[in-house]
Amino acid sequence: MYGLGILKGLGVTFKHFVATYTADVRYGLKRYTGDKFETRQGVDATGIYTVQYPEEKLAVPERFRFVPFLVVEDYDHPDRPGHDWCTACGICAKVCPPQCIWIVRAEDPVTKRPIAQPEAFFIDIDICMNCGYCAEFCPFDAIKMDHDYELASFDRTWTHIHDKERLSKQFSYWKTIAPTTAAEEAEARGGWEHIDVIKEKKKKAAAEAQAAETAAAAAEAAASAPAAQQDEAAAPAAEAAPAAAGTTDADAAREERRRKREAALARKHAKDQDEG
Ligand code: SF4
Ligand code: SF4
Repeated sequence: MYGLGILKGLGVTFKHFVATYTADVRYGLKRYTGDKFETRQGVDATGIYTVQYPEEKLAVPERFRFVPFLVVEDYDHPDRPGHDWCTACGICAKVCPPQCIWIVRAEDPVTKRPIAQPEAFFIDIDICMNCGYCAEFCPFDAIKMDHDYELASFDRTWTHIHDKERLSKQFSYWKTIAPTTAAEEAEARGGWEHIDVIKEKKKKAAAEAQAAETAAAAAEAAASAPAAQQDEAAAPAAEAAPAAAGTTDADAAREERRRKREAALARKHAKDQDEG
């Protein structure tokens, strides 16, 4: 009413105007030290503060996305240094709305059969609209959205068609720029390695466990075998022992009968002689 609102608005502007200079005086040269830059860009800032780009740069949030890059194994990886995570499945190229991805699948030099690796990979970043579909749909976590937005150049021909060499960045880089997302993805995969490596390790562990189980069963069978063999060997002996004992008793009885018969014959013979 009567211009009161306008005066209030001008007062706010004037307050910010004054705060800009008082804050500048308060921070002085400390503007470039410690966390002063973040503070003056944060919610606690007073006054108007201009980022002196390119000397000063605002930190981008983790979910920020610019153009895609390809994940490769770290160059100091013990087993597969610099190995592509991309398997050249082509899904990213299919889902890309402006169709700015080209992939050439590698082939086995001997058999000429296609293998799960990209021979060549191109993205025209002038056409890329930074939608992130490629990264969303990749089943191997092999393509990610980068934070590097300083891609301007004076060339309008090939510079902005990024090839495989330019697109490739180590996995540790992804962990640096997006630690939370990288950890979530690793948890979903079951480890920090590529999904194929994790599957291979699981298969190997299962095979080793199976082999150990088989070996344990074989050892158990071998340990119980001598006892059974002893039982088997002892059985005929046990059977033979009573047989041997039986044989002795029968012979003795037979001998006894023979002796009685001869004695009886001798008595009869003597009686016949007496009567004769
Ligand atoms: S979807 Fe992933 S694995 Fe498949 S071609 Fe694209 S980047 Fe490579
Ligand atoms: S971010 Fe979107 S437009 Fe760019 S390459 Fe990926 S899918 Fe295509």
